[in-house]
Amino acid sequence: MTKGSIMIDQELCKGCRICFHFCPKGSISQSEKLNANGYLPALFDNNSECSGCGICAIVCSEVAIEVYRE
Ligand code: SF4
Ligand code: SF4
Repeated sequence: MTKGSIMIDQELCKGCRICFHFCPKGSISQSEKLNANGYLPALFDNNSECSGCGICAIVCSEVAIEVYRE
């Protein structure tokens, strides 16, 4: 199975949580640390089973997510 990972730009993220809900692997949660714009940004769980499907990047209106596939 394809293994993937993502990078979330903490300053572009608006903390809308849409990517959390769409990720089929539950790989994204919320940071407890505010970014410079006062939002709680999304955090990727490096120990998750991310498949690199790219759904999170597609649904992110801020284009804050980059997807990597191994
Ligand atoms: S690439 Fe797919 S599995 Fe990985 S974090 Fe994004 S939505 Fe979840
Ligand atoms: S969809 Fe984009 S803006 Fe919304 S929480 Fe996820 S990374 Fe942040």
